[in-house]
Amino acid sequence: MSSPIPAEQLRYFRKQQRRIVDTIQQFVEIESPSDVKAAVDRLGTVIRSRFGELGGKVRVHRVEPAGNHIQVSFPGRREHKPVLLLGHMDTVYPIGTISKMPFRVSKGRILGPGVADMKAGIALAFHAIEALLHWNGGQFPRPLSLLLVSDEEVGSASSRSLTETLAPGAGAVLVLEPAQGPQGAVKTARKGVGGYTLRVEGRAAHAGLDFEKGQNAILEMSRQICALSGFGDPARGVTINVGRVTGGTRPNVVPAEATASIDVRVRSRQDAAELHRKITSLEPANAQCKVMVTGSINRPPLERTGGVIMLYEKARSIAKALGWDLEEAAVGGGSDGNFTAALGVPTLDGLGAVGGGAHSPEEFAVVSELPRRAALLAGLIEQV
Ligand SMILES: [Zn+2]
Repeated sequence: MSSPIPAEQLRYFRKQQRRIVDTIQQFVEIESPSDVKAAVDRLGTVIRSRFGELGGKVRVHRVEPAGNHIQVSFPGRREHKPVLLLGHMDTVYPIGTISKMPFRVSKGRILGPGVADMKAGIALAFHAIEALLHWNGGQFPRPLSLLLVSDEEVGSASSRSLTETLAPGAGAVLVLEPAQGPQGAVKTARKGVGGYTLRVEGRAAHAGLDFEKGQNAILEMSRQICALSGFGDPARGVTINVGRVTGGTRPNVVPAEATASIDVRVRSRQDAAELHRKITSLEPANAQCKVMVTGSINRPPLERTGGVIMLYEKARSIAKALGWDLEEAAVGGGSDGNFTAALGVPTLDGLGAVGGGAHSPEEFAVVSELPRRAALLAGLIEQV
């Protein structure tokens, strides 16, 4: 037994469209904000049983305080390295959001919290796997692993090591994050992301009686912010956003401390190292103040390497056989694909739903795109 020709596959998934939407509904209606373990674990339990019904071997990686991570493996006929499908179960929406933005299908769009990012991606993986098993007499052409983590939206602190342990054993990593833009481009480059906290210590004094004795931490912070901004180079893709500043106590007190939270983005590992060095060597302009920096580049950039291009070309030829021209895109946001690509494992991202409005009340996935996304994913699992 073997998979049908691409046009047949597409017809099959068109017939499955209603069931794919139903699976998405099931996943969306179980809310799963990253910071509520019980909620993510509830979704994890349902996902385990769905993939378990397909015959996958389920392994639960128990962690605290984040939700558990779910790994599902399927054996393959040939002794190849497995394909690793990578996704996350958590969303950015707090519990109760579902009552304000309930799951619904309207004007060809599915709406609901986390629908595109990335519950539709998990549903697409489910239906692609189901179809491949159906077409191949219950066994994959090559082994497949699926890793669904619980904390991607908050930086993947508890899942990163697991992702980095599984990836090197895989021949390719396919990331179920939403596609880019209305054309549904796959993501062949993602910026690296870093977070830093800058703290300035000065000296408090009465703003009227002892002004000269004070060392103004906020004034020093403003100089540091100017210096930091100078490290940015948007044309090169290096951006620095000081997103939050706190400091001082009241107008008549020279402030003794100030703190800034900083988000940085870079396109290359070289720029990441360079920027990290600059930020961590900031010196106070006022020698009476102290400047302290903590933080790092949390996600290395997903660079458009040979392995990434090879996977994209494969995806493009599969899409072509299905009748469409699959584009590629470079984006500023990071994903867990950044970790696997940085280890040199060929990684292709943006294989989930076509949609938009991620992390907003308007988040949506396009219904009519679901069949060909499922067909693309199935084709990649089979052919990479
Ligand atoms: Zn995501």
